[in-house]
Amino acid sequence: MNIIVVGGGIAGLSTAWSLVKAEHSVTLVEQGPIPNPLAASGDHHRIIRRAYGKATGYGRLITEAYEAWDEMWTDLGENHLDPRGFLCISREEGDEAEIYREGLEAGGYPFQLFQPEQAVEIWPFLEAGTFRYAYFSTEGGALHCRKIAAGLAKWLRANGANVYENSKVVSVGDERGSVGLEDGSEIAGDRVVVTAGAWVLKLFPELGGTLKTYRTALAYVEPPADLRAAWEAAPVILDVGGKTDGYMIPPSGGAGMKFGSGLHKVPTSDADWNRDPVAGEGEAIRNLFSPPIARIEEYRVTEVVTCAYTFTKDERFFATEKGKALVVSACSGHGYKFGAAVGRRVAAAIGDDDVDGLKRWLRAEV
Ligand SMILES: Cc1cc2nc3c(=O)[nH]c(=O)nc-3n(C[C@H](O)[C@H](O)[C@H](O)COP(=O)(O)OP(=O)(O)OC[C@H]3O[C@@H](n4cnc5c(N)ncnc54)[C@H](O)[C@@H]3O)c2cc1C
Repeated sequence: MNIIVVGGGIAGLSTAWSLVKAEHSVTLVEQGPIPNPLAASGDHHRIIRRAYGKATGYGRLITEAYEAWDEMWTDLGENHLDPRGFLCISREEGDEAEIYREGLEAGGYPFQLFQPEQAVEIWPFLEAGTFRYAYFSTEGGALHCRKIAAGLAKWLRANGANVYENSKVVSVGDERGSVGLEDGSEIAGDRVVVTAGAWVLKLFPELGGTLKTYRTALAYVEPPADLRAAWEAAPVILDVGGKTDGYMIPPSGGAGMKFGSGLHKVPTSDADWNRDPVAGEGEAIRNLFSPPIARIEEYRVTEVVTCAYTFTKDERFFATEKGKALVVSACSGHGYKFGAAVGRRVAAAIGDDDVDGLKRWLRAEV
């Protein structure tokens, strides 16, 4: 089949990779460069971790996620995972860190528990007396997104796919597998896969009842000089507990250290809205991390990057058919780690026409 993939984030690139391996003829169209720094997949790194709440089912899917990345590293000839493990810090009973710990326990996945005094000795950037416990798991780390995107685009071109950058799709033909571009030209195919991230609502506004768009930002920081070595050796911090919904990625893969918090996201109806950082935004994000991070004002903000992403109400991944188009949204703030696996599953569903099976898998109901 001739298949057009709209969007060169991780979902689109991985789908194209898997479709090419299944011997389809593939054209991928991206509105910006690959990687696109404005896309959810366009930042330097994203976290992979086994931790999920016990009822979600996504913790179980991590086995497949790792297996799919391994297949991709083999094809790319490079491994873009920094497997430094992850750390969670619980500050309040029932906080997200605790929910993740219960998920690990329920699944029988191993982790190491630390009392605060022990944790502060190993990770001196933590502030004693501000948290209940910390735990570490080896099943996690940082995926280097920009390197993955560049590697996949190169692999796709080398393996016969058409990869168009800076080409915006403005219409998706419902009953024909074709797309219209901003310059008035048309690309004809048999099927279309739309993996347009937060921009999907510009193509399919009617999905606005299911997918809600948010704008957020991440703060890159330079840690205090005497803590730099500790951060270099640290796991990713998946959750700092309490109500912060905060995570940190230490320097990894040549990229700086960053702070991000779910508290910072705001709803928007437009993925392109307010994409220039606002004055003081990085410091505001950084300050959310005290406690449990000690000496927070000594972390110098070096860069702020903005992102747009979509969420479903129950934070599960989503797919729907629109004529010959299959629209896929694997995000809700936690989709990158599944990128390679999503690509394989979407390509398989195109091949065997089992879109219902794909939907169940995307919802982690298998
Ligand atoms: C701040 C933040 C932190 C996150 N942290 C994590 C994490 O730690 N771990 C994790 O697993 N997940 C995380 N996520 C979620 C993860 O980033 C997303 O699930 C994933 O990147 C979504 O990939 P995608 O390909 O679906 O969308 P995107 O990466 O947004 O890609 C969509 C692409 O489609 C292109 N496009 C859109 N419209 C058109 C068009 N009309 N024509 C052509 N091209 C078009 C866009 O330019 C873009 O490149 C985070 C998300 C955010 C925003």
